[in-house]
Amino acid sequence: MSVATNSPVPESLQPFLSSPKKMLIGGKWVDAKSGKTFEVFDPASDQVIAGVAEGDAADVELAVAAARKAFDQGPWSKMGGSERSRLIWRIGELIEEHADELAQIETLDNGKPFAVAKAADVALAADMFRYMAGWATKIEGNTIPIQLPYAPESEFHAFTLREPVGVVGQIIPWNFPLLMAAWKLAPALTTGCTVILKPAEQTPLSALRLGELILQAGVPDGVVNIITGFGETAGAAIASHDQIDKVAFTGSTEVGKLIINAATGNLKRVSLELGGKSPNVIYDDADLDSAIAGAADAIFFNQGEVCSAGSRLFVQKGVYDEVVAGVSEIAKNLKVGSGFDASTQMGPLVSREQFDRVTGYLKAGVSEGAEAAAGGSALDRPGYFVQPTVLKNASEDMSVVREEIFGPVVAAMPFGDEAELVGQANNTAYGLAAGIWTRDISKAHRFAKAVKAGSVWINCYSVFDAALPFGGYKQSGWGREMGHAVLENYLQTKSVCVSL
Ligand code: NDP
Repeated sequence: MSVATNSPVPESLQPFLSSPKKMLIGGKWVDAKSGKTFEVFDPASDQVIAGVAEGDAADVELAVAAARKAFDQGPWSKMGGSERSRLIWRIGELIEEHADELAQIETLDNGKPFAVAKAADVALAADMFRYMAGWATKIEGNTIPIQLPYAPESEFHAFTLREPVGVVGQIIPWNFPLLMAAWKLAPALTTGCTVILKPAEQTPLSALRLGELILQAGVPDGVVNIITGFGETAGAAIASHDQIDKVAFTGSTEVGKLIINAATGNLKRVSLELGGKSPNVIYDDADLDSAIAGAADAIFFNQGEVCSAGSRLFVQKGVYDEVVAGVSEIAKNLKVGSGFDASTQMGPLVSREQFDRVTGYLKAGVSEGAEAAAGGSALDRPGYFVQPTVLKNASEDMSVVREEIFGPVVAAMPFGDEAELVGQANNTAYGLAAGIWTRDISKAHRFAKAVKAGSVWINCYSVFDAALPFGGYKQSGWGREMGHAVLENYLQTKSVCVSL
């Protein structure tokens, strides 16, 4: 692993950074009612980059009133799909027009390399709005033939309407701040819902810039409200609010369970995209060059701060040493540094808290008996940098194999045959994703069928598209993001029956 120098923050971002960071409520940018702000840090330097309004329950109250008005009385729920579609498409265009700026904000706030932010986060966010814009005109019910057994002479015309669920609270994490906002906002707007969005306290900046672009696109006041603040206060107020009809959450499984409990008051709908500990499998008949590169990318992409990261690497015994050596070699050569340095391949972790968490796991892994074939510790420099790490001699009882680390740390384990592998791969509380590398197409399909995970990648990893549903089995979540499957999260069905 080599280290890139810290690069300065681009001058062009200074006007955005120096403007006050207020919340968006009812189409206006406002301070928190309490007047409080909180500090946001550059993870590459540990320096404060902005002070942001610290919203809490009182501000959530105002945002809910604005969202309710826009939904119950305002233009949004009365607007036709075609007009909504045009506005949603326009948001995608504006994201694309501001791609450099948004990617810079993401790099500054989250730490990820600028090239990654631009090519992945920003491009996929724009695409999500464009894909969803198309659905706004295609939300349809069915006509359903019915006949009553006790009155066979009677005739009816019966059909279903698909209606927006109403006011939606959306709570998102810090690993893909803009993209997670897009995954949540685009389908909610498509279906005609109104929204209160809460970005993560670590990375609120791109959501605020997106809020400006949403207003610029012409989305009516109160349709999208953005509350910055902490999970325990603002987030909890959203999850428990009895005038919110649904909450959509992405984050830890632990907080996902709190959300479910908080939602019971008014039985609001809940969708959850939670943690993972995904198996990535390499057979001895795989194209090892691409499997090794793919296994490294599956864990080191985005500093390993990816819910579907391939963090449990299962390698068939005969090629275990070769694969571990290959992935370790890539880890050792990755350039770690500021996301603004063009040569950087891996940035810092997002926060001091995440840094402590990941380095804690590195220590635990070694004390439980794993051995670092590459990396294994933090970098001795300002910012929250850790080494890309490959742990070998890992076993299923270790915390680094059972628990989500959410950092660039992969645990490599050997397996013998297919029967043994499936048991090992499914030996987890999670079920978000899985990967398999083999030239045997039948073996690959058998694995895809047997593994309990919402996404399976064969001879590839981390392939995302706005059209492809994504979400978890088991404790990785409820419901799906993206594709037309996500529309189910935001729609409800009304049956209408007419006597003829
Ligand atoms: P959290 O689950 O705490 O945060 C995700 C979002 O939930 C944030 O907006 C957070 O707000 C909010 N939140 C926190 N507590 C509550 C609450 N009681 N009620 C409502 N909302 C709340 O994740 P962390 O940031 O603490 O990360 C911890 C671990 O979670 C990571 O190491 C990783 O394992 C996992 N994680 C998984 C993600 C995924 O994509 N599935 C994404 C991020 C984390 P705030 O940030 O202001 O506290």
